Amino acid sequence: MSRAQARHQAIRTAQTWKERFDGREGATPPVDQIFGSNVFGLRKMRERLPKATYKAIVATIERGKSLAPEVADIVAAAMKDWAIEQGATRFTHWFQPLTGTTAEKHDSLIVADGQGHVLYSLSGADLTQGEPDASSFPSGGLRATFEARGYTAWDPTSPAFIVRAENSATLCIPTAFVSWTGEALDKKTPLLRSCDALNNHAKRILKLFGTDAGVSRVVTTLGCEQEYFLIDRDMYHARPDLVSSGRTVYGASPPKGQQLEDHYFGAIPSRVLAYMSEVEEELYRLGVPVKTRHNEVAPGQYEVAPLFEEANVACDHQMVLMETLRRVAPHYGFACLLHEKPFAGVNGSGKHCNWSMATDTGVNLLDPRDDTHTNMQFLVFLCAVIRAVDVHADILRASIASVGNDHRLGANEAPPAIISIFLGDMLTDIIDQLERGSPRRTIKGGAIDLGARTLPRIPRHSGDRNRTSPFAFTGNKFEFRAVGSSASASWPVTVINTIVAESLDVIATQLEKAMGKRPTESKLRNAVKRLLKQVIKDHKRVIFNGDNYSEEWAAEAAERGLANLKNVADALPVLKLRRATNLFKKYSVLTPSELESRLHIQLEAYIKRRQIEAEEMLQIGRRMLLPAALGHQRRLAETVVKTRAAGVDCDVEAAALESFVGLVQDFRAALVALEIANGHEDEPIKHAKVIAKNTLPLMEALRDAGDALEAHVEHKLWPLPSYHEMLSIR
Ligand code: ADP
Ligand code: MG
Repeated sequence: MSRAQARHQAIRTAQTWKERFDGREGATPPVDQIFGSNVFGLRKMRERLPKATYKAIVATIERGKSLAPEVADIVAAAMKDWAIEQGATRFTHWFQPLTGTTAEKHDSLIVADGQGHVLYSLSGADLTQGEPDASSFPSGGLRATFEARGYTAWDPTSPAFIVRAENSATLCIPTAFVSWTGEALDKKTPLLRSCDALNNHAKRILKLFGTDAGVSRVVTTLGCEQEYFLIDRDMYHARPDLVSSGRTVYGASPPKGQQLEDHYFGAIPSRVLAYMSEVEEELYRLGVPVKTRHNEVAPGQYEVAPLFEEANVACDHQMVLMETLRRVAPHYGFACLLHEKPFAGVNGSGKHCNWSMATDTGVNLLDPRDDTHTNMQFLVFLCAVIRAVDVHADILRASIASVGNDHRLGANEAPPAIISIFLGDMLTDIIDQLERGSPRRTIKGGAIDLGARTLPRIPRHSGDRNRTSPFAFTGNKFEFRAVGSSASASWPVTVINTIVAESLDVIATQLEKAMGKRPTESKLRNAVKRLLKQVIKDHKRVIFNGDNYSEEWAAEAAERGLANLKNVADALPVLKLRRATNLFKKYSVLTPSELESRLHIQLEAYIKRRQIEAEEMLQIGRRMLLPAALGHQRRLAETVVKTRAAGVDCDVEAAALESFVGLVQDFRAALVALEIANGHEDEPIKHAKVIAKNTLPLMEALRDAGDALEAHVEHKLWPLPSYHEMLSIR
């Protein structure tokens, strides 16, 4: 489809949807009736399993007890019956390989009965273990192709679910993916290990404070806010760069981008709302508790956020959510873009990861309550996070490094690549008091008078909002905002869990020592005060409440000695440091070779994706943009010639032609410069650095030259849908 056809079709589609959906009400079924209908979770297990089996599975889920094979057989049979009732004919072990996406290999639920017929079956073994032919998944050197065996192992803590699509319904069983030697080949395994590490050391703190009664686990809680773009599908297909790289490698800024800020929280267009409603309905059925939806800052940008859940389930749900956003989009003639920076010049997309720790009895350990300064236990957990982020800021930074996020971090719209913590006034005040001695008071938020009698007085949060911080304390949780929109939340959360587990370990060890054989309350109070004072002294440099987008901050951060790892090539090598290797090894999250494999896979992904982008730029440049520009040039030239032939003075046109020819020459020169750039290096870190340092600037120069052409070439001749068309037709 040509660009003109795509544009025409997009406008027609938008119109049809408007007609179809304007004024329609309440088309989706009530949430309470459909929620979890496609999920085989604890509720269905309680209904369908014998009591003893149900008890055994609860013990596994809640206390990590290993599952007996007989139990697995019974669960599998019940799961199969349920799945068949739901119309499923296939099942798959659903896992998260290191590619960053999800993987599935479907198997039929049918087996031969030996008499020429088939019957449905799912054995305990089918449920608990699978062996996909995994030789093509990246392992970063963990296993060679000749020993390609990889196993999937059922994760009973994340409920199985059915994904429905045209003509199919598939039972998806969440699994971990490991090599035959037990090395983690996926993102789930280290996440689960990091949750264990955090649990172990957090419980030591609770024990010290005597608040561990009835607590069997401390869990990590996670709620992810997902940003995405929607553009018309026909225009998406007319942009080879979007299709192959997920971002536009050319595209002149439209006169109206997001300057007016009229999109943020604006009325949701009817076609978009129809789409969101179907996405939400699907997600409810899949047990994903989505809660908020709204327009985001950039035109065409939206956000969806669920209620928080335990990290492991939340990460699985996050993958399901991204899948669902993509899968439903074509039903409404949309393409959903999850890339961090699909369009230059307007905001990119992030995935804010809201993170906290809670007991399984429901106490949020990062909730300061009313009189914060007396809540010593809260302050211990808070200071553990501050210490963790300061000591391992670079590892945390590395956990969000990706080719897409390189365009977003530090681009004056997203948090910078410098990791710092926002605490807000109240906590900063308490921290200052702690550093000086004992905290005595808590600044109370007071109430904001809204100035209108009919409005209620609402309590004011004493911590203000700061949208620019990469890691912000937001009332009763931390919000890691630097995570990219397309990323799996698993790895950043694994890193947060691990570094916080280490801090809790260090703190617990010191406090336990100070308590000695006969702990008393006043001993504890004094020890905590002394310890926190020291932690704050050593690590308060990471706290910054100001504007993280400002240039002054970059300078100040450098003075404070905070790392500023600007891109993937700078950030990833951190994972090679002995500190990183020791950290992950000590808390049994990743062995040194598992960690190294992750470094390799990510470097390779960076290199390959940049190479694809560069190649795409060259192809689009040579085969689409240059011919269009030359067509325009010919028309200008003809105009000059014919006007002169008619005996009319044409100097202005001639000058315009000359300057346009100059732009075309610049473009050609930039094409050639990128074409002949040879940035190959055998060593992957070196290769990535060369790409970041040499190739990327050439790509940017080529883009500028191409965008300059777009600003001059006749609209009809330009072969790519423009930013204006993509961002405004809805
Ligand atoms: P905002 O960031 O705009 O204040 P919310 O306060 O609604 O938005 O929270 C955003 C996300 O944070 C939601 O997914 C929410 O469920 C999640 N969240 C809230 N409390 C916690 C918590 N204790 N642990 C983890 N996530 C949480
Ligand atoms: Mg938020």
